[in-house]
Parts: sequence; C-alpha cells; structure tokens
Amino acid sequence: VVTDEGGVDVHEASGGRFGPAPRDVFEQWEAFRAWADEGVSSPVTPFEPGDLGAPSPLPRQVFSIGANYPDHAEEADFAIPTTMEVFSKFPTCIAGPYVDVPLPDGDTDWEAELVIVMGKEAHNIAEDSAWDHVAGVTIGQDYSERVRQMAASQWGLAKSHPNFGPTGPWLVTTDAVEDKDDLDITCAINGEQVQHGRSARMVFSVSQIITEIASISTLLPGDLIFTGTMSGVGLTRKPPVYLKVGDVVTTEIAGIGKIENRIVAGT
Ligand code: ZN
Repeated sequence: VVTDEGGVDVHEASGGRFGPAPRDVFEQWEAFRAWADEGVSSPVTPFEPGDLGAPSPLPRQVFSIGANYPDHAEEADFAIPTTMEVFSKFPTCIAGPYVDVPLPDGDTDWEAELVIVMGKEAHNIAEDSAWDHVAGVTIGQDYSERVRQMAASQWGLAKSHPNFGPTGPWLVTTDAVEDKDDLDITCAINGEQVQHGRSARMVFSVSQIITEIASISTLLPGDLIFTGTMSGVGLTRKPPVYLKVGDVVTTEIAGIGKIENRIVAGT
C-alpha cells in the first residue's frame, strides 16, 4: 500500500493476516482488497524506489502476447494476427523495477509493455468478467535477445535472461487509473523517447487476452501477462539499434509511474 509519503508494511499492519510474501496476498486478493478498502491506519514508512522488488516476484506462469499492436506488427513484417500469438517468459527473468540488466551476447532489444497481474483463478470465463479476475496493472519491459529469438520458432528462452522481465514500480488497482483500456505507454533510452503508444490500440484487448488464455490454461493468482509492445523497437530500425552497456531504459505508463534499468556488462 503506497502513498506519496511512503508505504505500509501489509504483513505488519494486518497483524500477520496477509503476507509477508506477495504471493500469499494474491491468494487472498478479495479479502485483502476488502481490508485495504476499509482504510489502513498504520503509519507509512518512506522508501527508496530502488528498494522495491517485483509486485509479483514469483509468478507461477508468465504469458506474453506477440504482435499485439498493428504498428509493431507492421514494422516487424508480421501479419496482424487473427489467432493470438502467446508465448512465455520463464519466471526466473522477472525482477523489480530498478534492476540492472546484464547484457548477454547477441542483440538485446527493448519492448515497453503493460503487464496484467492476476488476482483470481480463471478458467473458461466470460469476456465481460475478465477484468474481475485481475488484481491490478503494472509496467514491464520484455527485454529480448534477437539473435537467439530469430534463430528458433520458440521465443521464450531469448526473452528469459536474468532480469529480462523487470516489473513495477508497484501494482495499481484498476479503479485508480482513469481508463484501464486506454493507457499511455512510453519507452526512452538515455532520455530519448523511442516508443509511444496507447493500450487502446491493441489488436486483442486485455479482456480478450485473459479470456483466450483462460479458454485453454488456468490462470492463477499472481500470474503475469505481458500484453505486447508498440512500434519503435531496435530490431526494425534501419540500421537496427541494440542496447549497450551504460544505456538507461525508462519505461513509463501515465497514471502508474515508471521503471528504469541500467544495462551493465554481462558476467
Ligand atoms: Zn513483448
């Protein structure tokens, strides 16, 4: 629970009822919301943004959507999908909002994305109830090493290096954003904007994504969904541009905040 002055330790403030592990809170999301909505009276503790970890640090599943913005599909020479492209980032790549990202061999690219955090199990649900299964939204980067990605049909491994899935800076419940289906997303490298889009432009909306995944798999509390990126990635530039040691990548969603990562030498 975050205010302008700081945050509340949910485990302490709830007398041990919720947490301390974030996943334990997602498992009881409705009860947690009811408790939080009553107003938390505990004093807030100031914190540094860099102290924050991922809102859902150990998701059991991470789903990602490919070619979900028409402008990105076009720049990447993909047909606009009629069947949703779904792949996974493996959960060990999920990290906090301000982590350094070690640069692996190859060509590492950026993808600013809206990330959905599930708050309720979902399987075979109606599309108009999809958002009811969401705990909240957050910001993510889907860092992608393009040499490995393009060398195989399965993308997941190339997008799962350590810290290739930073998320945060916090989870924002959908009642706290003006329009959950039209969020303004940007990415800047060393202060220069490289991506800008609005989530209303998605080929498949958040509701459609959740419904489609849940028509096959079971979505679990704390699971993440990376909803796809807009145009402006490095791969499609002429000539292509990739991240280098020392670059600072800032990813923002208006009304939510920003995450920021420094690219460091790989080990
Ligand atoms: Zn992506």
